[in-house]
Amino acid sequence: MKSNIKTKPTIYMIFGGTGDLAERKLIPALYNLFLEGYMPKEFAIIGLGRTDYTNESFIKNLLGGVNKFSRSGKADKDQWADFSSRISYLRTDVNNEGDYAKMEQVIDKYEAEWSEPPVIIHYLAVAPNFFPIIASNLAKMKSAGDAERTRVVIEKPFGRDLETAKELNALLRNIFDEKQIYRIDHYLGKETVQNMMAFRFANALFEPIWNRNFIEHVQISVTEDIGVEDRGGYYDGSGALRDMLQNHILQVLCLVAMEPPVNFDAEEVRNRKVDVLRAMRKFGPEEIRFNTVRGQYGEGWVKGEKVEGYRQEQGVNKESNTETFAAIKFFIDNWRWQNVPFYVRTGKRMHQKSSIISIQFKDVPHLIFPNNSSESWQQNRLIISIQPEMSIRLQVQAKRPGLDMTLNPVDMVFNYDGTYETDTPEAYETLLLDAMKGDQTLFMRGDQVETAWDLIMPVLESWEVKKSINFPNYSADSWGPEAAEALIAKDGFHWFTLPIKKSDKK
Ligand code: NAP
Repeated sequence: MKSNIKTKPTIYMIFGGTGDLAERKLIPALYNLFLEGYMPKEFAIIGLGRTDYTNESFIKNLLGGVNKFSRSGKADKDQWADFSSRISYLRTDVNNEGDYAKMEQVIDKYEAEWSEPPVIIHYLAVAPNFFPIIASNLAKMKSAGDAERTRVVIEKPFGRDLETAKELNALLRNIFDEKQIYRIDHYLGKETVQNMMAFRFANALFEPIWNRNFIEHVQISVTEDIGVEDRGGYYDGSGALRDMLQNHILQVLCLVAMEPPVNFDAEEVRNRKVDVLRAMRKFGPEEIRFNTVRGQYGEGWVKGEKVEGYRQEQGVNKESNTETFAAIKFFIDNWRWQNVPFYVRTGKRMHQKSSIISIQFKDVPHLIFPNNSSESWQQNRLIISIQPEMSIRLQVQAKRPGLDMTLNPVDMVFNYDGTYETDTPEAYETLLLDAMKGDQTLFMRGDQVETAWDLIMPVLESWEVKKSINFPNYSADSWGPEAAEALIAKDGFHWFTLPIKKSDKK
C-alpha cells in the first residue's frame, strides 16, 4: 500500500555505512520505505566508512544485503536503480576532523539543489566508543545547532552503566537539544510492542481491569536459541543484563505498566514511561538474593548437533563470569501495581526463540462448577507474542461441546498473519520513518535511559563483585537455570511458553 505521509527532503548520513547493521537492517528498511512511498521525493543516503569503496562497489554490496535480508525479497531492478541513484559513499575516518568538512560539502550541495533545506539525520551505526568523537565533530558543523532539521540517531548500547550513560547524555546535550537526539531501542518499533498501547488505550475492555485488583502477575520473557555467535568478544564485556534487560525488557515493561497518557504526544508518552521506572523497587542486597537469578550456558545438543558452552566460544574468557541468562522479579511501588510481581527473563541458547508478554488475571472469586467439571483449569491470561508468532491471545474458560458441563481453556486469537494481508514492517522501518518525521515517541529520552540504568545498577554491581560459583549452570537448548524456575515456582506460577511452530523446527 502506498503511503499518504509526506516527509521532508532528507539526508541520511550513515556512520558505519559499511557495517553489518547498515547492510542487514538500515538499507533494507530504507529501501522498503522507498517501495511503499514513504521516502520523500528528494532524499540522499550517504554511506560513511574507511573501507575503500567506490560508489558503484558500495551500492553493489548494499544490493547484496537487500536481496538477502529485505522482507520484500529480492530487489526489483527498476526500483533499485531509482533508489540506489540516491546513494553515495564517502570514505571517511570518524577520528579525522577534515572528513567532516567533506560531509558538510555534500550537505551543502543538496541544500543548493533541492526545493527546501533538508532534514539531516546522522545515524551512528558504529561502536559506542566512537559516539563522543563523532558528536564532538558534528558540533562543529554549521547545521548542528539547527534543532528543527538536524537529528542524531544513537544505536545501542547507550552507556555500559549509569555513569557512562550520564556522561554520554551530558556530552550530547551539550551539543544538541534533546529533541534532536534519537536513542534507538529497536524493540519499540516492533508491531506487537506498539500494539500494546493500542490494546490498552483504544479499547474500553482492558483498562478497568488493568491493575492489582485483577492482575495476579506479569511475565516478560525474551529468549534466544542462538549463542553469542561471532559477537563473543563484545558480549563478554556486556552480558544479558546490559544487552537485553536494561533496555528492551524494561521498555516493554513500561508499556505494560504505564498510566494512560493524556494524548499520544511523544513527551507525554515518555513521561508516563519514566514514571514506571521511577516507581520500580530498587534492590538492596536481600532483594538481589531472593529476586534475581543469573545463568551461563554450558555445552549441549541443539537440533541434533553438539554446541559449545559459552566459555568455549570465540572471544570469551575461559573463566568468564558474564551472565548469558538473567531473570528478575520486579515490583512497582504505586497504587496500580502494589504487590503484583513482574517476572522478566532473558537468555541465550535457550530452547526456543521467543518474545512473550503474559498477563495473568486473578482467579474467579467463587467457583460454581463442581471440581470435576474442569480438566485443566487456567486463570484468564492475555498473551502478547512477538515470537514465535505475532499474535495476541486471550485465554478464557469455555464449555466443551457435549452433554456434560466440562470446562477447558480456549484461546481467542488475534493473529497478524490471518488478520492482515499487508506485510508487517520491520522495526527499523518504523523507526527510520519516525526519525524523518521528527517523531520521538518510540525513542528513549535521556532521563528514561538513566533511570533504567539506575534501577539495574545494584544487580549489575553485585553480580560483578560476587563471581558466580556455579557457571555454567544451564545447558544449551534448555529453559535456563533451575533457580529461574524456582524464582517463579515458589510463588505458585510457571514461565509461560508457546508451542514451537512446525516451520521453526528443523
Ligand atoms: P560493524 O559491522 O562492526 O560495523 C562497524 C562500522 O564502523 C563499519 O562500517 C566500520 O567501517 C565503521 N568504523 C569503524 N571504525 C571507523 C572509523 N575509525 N571511522 C569510520 N568508520 C569506522 O558493527 P555493526 O554490527 O554494524 O554495529 C554498529 C552499531 O550498531 C554498534 O553500536 C552496535 O552495537 C549497534 N547494533 C548493531 C546491530 C546489528 O544487528 N549489527 C543490532 C543492534 C545494534 P569501516 O570498517 O569501513 O571503517
